[in-house]
Amino acid sequence: MKKVWIEPGCITCGKCEFIAPEVFEILAIAYVKKDVDPAGYEKLIKEASKHCPVQVIKYEE
Ligand code: SF4
Repeated sequence: MKKVWIEPGCITCGKCEFIAPEVFEILAIAYVKKDVDPAGYEKLIKEASKHCPVQVIKYEE
């Protein structure tokens, strides 16, 4: 995986951080943590993206 990002619309449900705390962080909204290499977390990122209720977690393979 080359890249992961969150588009506008996060409702701060917390699922992405629960599934992949190494990658996602909830502040006012969810963010991808600084300096994360998505290649090491492909499975967790896909899982978090699948479970995001508003489908704002995107990634590029
Ligand atoms: S799973 Fe989606 S809506 Fe929930 S905190 Fe993460 S990005 Fe936001």
